[in-house]
Amino acid sequence: MKKRILTGDRPTGKLHIGHYFGSLRNRVKYQKEYDTFIIIADVQALTDNFKTPRKVRENVKEVAIDNLAVGIDPQRSTIFIQSLIPEIAELTIFYSNLVTIARLERNPTVKDEFKQKKEVFQDKITYGFLGYPVSQAADITVFDADLVPVGDDQLPQVEQTQEIVGKFNRIYGKVLVKPEAAIDEFPRVRGLDGRSKMSKSLDNAIYLGDEAEEIQAKVAKALTDKNKIKIDDKGNPDDCTVFYYHQIFEAENLAQIRKQCQTGVRGCVNCKKELANNIIQRLAPIREKRKYYEKNPKVVEDILRNGTQRAKKVAQETLARVKKSMFLDYFK
Ligand code: ATP
Ligand code: MG
Repeated sequence: MKKRILTGDRPTGKLHIGHYFGSLRNRVKYQKEYDTFIIIADVQALTDNFKTPRKVRENVKEVAIDNLAVGIDPQRSTIFIQSLIPEIAELTIFYSNLVTIARLERNPTVKDEFKQKKEVFQDKITYGFLGYPVSQAADITVFDADLVPVGDDQLPQVEQTQEIVGKFNRIYGKVLVKPEAAIDEFPRVRGLDGRSKMSKSLDNAIYLGDEAEEIQAKVAKALTDKNKIKIDDKGNPDDCTVFYYHQIFEAENLAQIRKQCQTGVRGCVNCKKELANNIIQRLAPIREKRKYYEKNPKVVEDILRNGTQRAKKVAQETLARVKKSMFLDYFK
């Protein structure tokens, strides 16, 4: 049997180039080798978007389209909607006995995200948001995933999953598979504003479906070395978001760009134009494929329906095994 992967996205917005280089590109590669499950985590999205359920609903389709547009093949990969697999919620309840509140409060990603979401939580964390790593452990283990490809913000969640699996297996027998995280070459792509993470919640992203003019406008505003104001000022490319993206998008003349910036013979305006053109070209096939799926919502719906059906079957099998190990298999 092929080894399994569980990975996925929260339907909180369209996916961007951070997702592409941090996760999606690898997914496309992995799907040839692994039995891949891609979760559209609507239940998890609601933990910090419970006031805006319509937004979550609308983005389920968008996130599915983004995955398909970058080359996820529904014949190889199973794309499914989390809330339609209630087995995940059941597992979450069982796992919640194995995790202390103190342990959840130490999770650095949850801490960071909580700080960013003051307007949602008004400084008081909910049970659901604090506990979302437990639900993520259920997402991963319900499919017996061996590998979890993620950006580095998700490493604490995989670690939490490993702890839960260890504890569960010690108490109830060897029932669950312990997963490993897989990190891509760019585990945390920076935002256009220079912030440490490009994020759909921070409005600092270039989306996979952005049109040429949007890309040009966004790149034009990207943060550059603040000490380089005129063309002939010597710049520091390592302190420039534009150069950082030149690296990610593998500009052909990378060494030359660095040298010209450092010696003050390259202006930021042109440098940004070059970058925008490269991004526009690289994203063109994705944008085209995206348009096809946008125009054919029925195709997307069928892929989600079939994927969810398959995921549900696997989840039911795992739940039966889990319940048996916990003596919850009544009325055989
Ligand atoms: P939200 O702000 O709603 O949490 P997000 O942009 O963090 O959205 P998620 O759906 O939470 O996106 O994450 C999906 C996957 O993409 C995860 O594996 C995450 O680690 C990865 N990822 C998200 N942003 C980046 C980034 N800037 N660089 C690399 N990987 C990323
Ligand atoms: Mg996130």
